[in-house]
Amino acid sequence: METDYRRRREEMVERQIAARGISDKRVLAAMRKVERHLFVPDALRDQAYRDFPLPIGEGQTISQPFIVAEMTQALALSPTDKVLEIGTGSGYQTAILAELAEKVYTIERLRALFISARKIFDTLRLANVVAKCSDGTLGWPEEAPFDAILVTAGAPAIPKILLSQLGLGGRMVLPAGGEDTQNLIKMVRGQEGIRQINMGGCRFVKLIGKEGWGG
Ligand code: SAH
Repeated sequence: METDYRRRREEMVERQIAARGISDKRVLAAMRKVERHLFVPDALRDQAYRDFPLPIGEGQTISQPFIVAEMTQALALSPTDKVLEIGTGSGYQTAILAELAEKVYTIERLRALFISARKIFDTLRLANVVAKCSDGTLGWPEEAPFDAILVTAGAPAIPKILLSQLGLGGRMVLPAGGEDTQNLIKMVRGQEGIRQINMGGCRFVKLIGKEGWGG
């Protein structure tokens, strides 16, 4: 069974990710390594390497593998980076970030998801992940500034507090826009200020919180 999962992971990376233009070798290697089937509900394990998002309970979803790869590549992580992730969900994206950066701080607002993600981080001994349960739109001021910030839920606008926690040279990637569809936005903080790049349309569950949608 494990070898079968490994083969499916290879196929996922080749057909859904590399074939669609993701070329960062470190990102591809992380996607080949992290066992996505461990992050989905037991009943859906068989579908873990398919080309779509899956429900993870509490009305939330684990993102489509390609979207995870695309957002991760856009963060341009280096091994010394300190990363903040908002929307832990299943913890799958967190585990990918943990392969590529020095330390990952991740925030989930729903306690049940936070607890199950923390359990899997412990099981997999992801020593460079720190998780907390709170409103991620407020960021993690005690640990700022961050080299990269990733938001995996759709915001109505760019959360200003999060942007203020992005260090010089830092990259932030987030879906922002309407309740049903958003654009994937990349922000880069340079010497002259913030540069914003629109990466195209996407669909995420809602970011709920002080600087998100009302909850
Ligand atoms: N990256 C996740 C995707 C989960 S879906 C994965 O790989 O599985 C987005 C998650 O964001 C949901 O679990 C949702 O509860 C969470 N979320 C929404 N608003 C939030 C907020 N303000 N702070 C923290 N988490 C939030």
